[in-house]
Amino acid sequence: MASRKDTILKAAKRTAKQAHAAASKRGSKPRARVGIEPHRHCSVCWKPISLDSEPAICGDDVCEKMFDRREKSRKRFTFLMYFGIALFVGLLAFQIIMGASG
Ligand SMILES: [Zn+2]
Repeated sequence: MASRKDTILKAAKRTAKQAHAAASKRGSKPRARVGIEPHRHCSVCWKPISLDSEPAICGDDVCEKMFDRREKSRKRFTFLMYFGIALFVGLLAFQIIMGASG
């Protein structure tokens, strides 16, 4: 005898299957252009640019400025991160030394 629970379970499984099918259908992108050349994108406006352009910007004035600003803040962040680590390690070493001597 098929209980109500069974029916619900079956229905749920079916829905899950349908959802999965829909998701996989959505996930497969149609590859229209197959023989596309290797390229990279401007890190600001995502315009396709040549692979060897360094820094990775399209050469637009706006993008250049934006890239510059980002680069500066990135450098500052990196510096602060290393500074924080150094400070932490320094304090740790200090504590160890103090603990050993005291
Ligand atoms: Zn750009």
